[in-house]
Amino acid sequence: MFDSNIPPDVPRLHTTDLSSAARPQTDEGATAILLVEDDDADARLVIRSLTPYARRSSVARATSLRDARAWLHRNACDVVLLDLSLPDSFGLETVARLHADVPSLPLVVLTGYDDDDFALDILAAGAQDYLVKGQTDGPLMWRAIQHAMARKRLEEQLRLSEERLQGIIGLAQDAILTTDENLNITLFNRAAESLFGYDADSILGRPLSLLIPERFRIDHETHITAFSTSEMQAQVMTNRREVMGLTRDGGEFPAEVSIAKLHHARGLLFTAVIRDVSERKRVESELRRMATTDPLTGLSNRRRFMELAETEMARLRRYGRPVSVLMLDIDRFKAINDHHGHAAGDQALVRLADVCRSELRDTDHVGRLGGEEFAIILPETGLSSAVEVAERLRQRLALADMPLAGGSLRMTVSIGVAVCDGEDTSIERALGRADRAMYEAKTLGRNRVMVSDGYPGPFFAGAPVPTSMAG
Ligand code: GH3
Ligand code: MG
Ligand code: MG
Repeated sequence: MFDSNIPPDVPRLHTTDLSSAARPQTDEGATAILLVEDDDADARLVIRSLTPYARRSSVARATSLRDARAWLHRNACDVVLLDLSLPDSFGLETVARLHADVPSLPLVVLTGYDDDDFALDILAAGAQDYLVKGQTDGPLMWRAIQHAMARKRLEEQLRLSEERLQGIIGLAQDAILTTDENLNITLFNRAAESLFGYDADSILGRPLSLLIPERFRIDHETHITAFSTSEMQAQVMTNRREVMGLTRDGGEFPAEVSIAKLHHARGLLFTAVIRDVSERKRVESELRRMATTDPLTGLSNRRRFMELAETEMARLRRYGRPVSVLMLDIDRFKAINDHHGHAAGDQALVRLADVCRSELRDTDHVGRLGGEEFAIILPETGLSSAVEVAERLRQRLALADMPLAGGSLRMTVSIGVAVCDGEDTSIERALGRADRAMYEAKTLGRNRVMVSDGYPGPFFAGAPVPTSMAG
């Protein structure tokens, strides 16, 4: 079936009988070639052409597609030289069938036609190159074989890399999409489908702007144009700008977007990785709220109050606007706890916070500094208005009964008032004065408003508060 066809003048070319399961014996790293050719004369020509490369190659020969497949089933080779007209297969079909069998093996077609269209069809069917019979000398054939092998290696690498990429893109938790230069979508991964609510099929080829709320589109375009021409190849669109995504049903979500550009022969490609950060934003704002508010009353805690107060102080220094502070402390609060229980005490604190909120302006700040001690900062408020506010608070609290499970409770407060002046370098100093005034109110019988030293009256006082505050 085989060796008989090898002419006597090519003794150095190694060949293998098709019945043998062994790989041809040649030098280490030599090219093992399977020649599939039914025509003896053509086969002789090929082998003669390859004679100069005998040390670097071995040739096995099959005379039908069936034999070739059987041999490949049991043997390895580096490349197949394939005649298209075999007893059991003809034309492109031959290429396609063998390619389907051994997709990773480079195929070089031997053809009688020298036709460009046919040549392209051959390549499309899975071959790496073709040689025209009668127009092929040894060096050309050898080069075609080596190129076919190199090209196949690259194709395989590319295929592997493509598969790996598709795997990563498919598995990614983040939405990944690509666009062409005109910002039309060219890739849309599974995470993008579930994030935006579009099937890839329904959005490919459509503009990226579909995924951006209308009011951000112009800004986005400006940003992309700047990015296109910038030196930067990749960029994270950070929290500096608000980035929002738009879903198919019109929902919006805050997004974190990283974009990269890719230059190719016909222009630019953009890749974007998009993450929905709603949950993170929610947690952040919840943490911020927890870090700045008093859980019982919902008022600012000491830290937050001090921050707000310092801001007001800065305004005072810059514009010379009046600012007043109040220190407020519940009278005999310990007795409320003792007589009505801690829960009732808590309720009293909540009620106090509610009264403050309803009596004060939006621009005023109330803070629970600790225990039953509260501070209030009143921007744009001079002494007499501050005293009026304090007195209104005192009366509102003193007059109203607070319903309790087993009756009702009335509470009173003592309030110290201080006006910030140019010498107050920090809010602490002004609060200190208000605090002293508040203790003076305590000393004088509680349930009253006192103004800090340096300011003559007026102060207001209600009925003295008895030592025990049973409701
Ligand atoms: P004074 O009129 O001199 O201010 O007397 P007082 O009893 O209000 O003052 P004192 O500082 O002796 O007691 C404050 C009490 O406030 C003691 C503490 O048990 C209570 N207290 C502090 N924080 C809370 C709280 O969150 N809930 C409740 N129910 N009580 C609290
Ligand atoms: Mg033939
Ligand atoms: Mg108290």
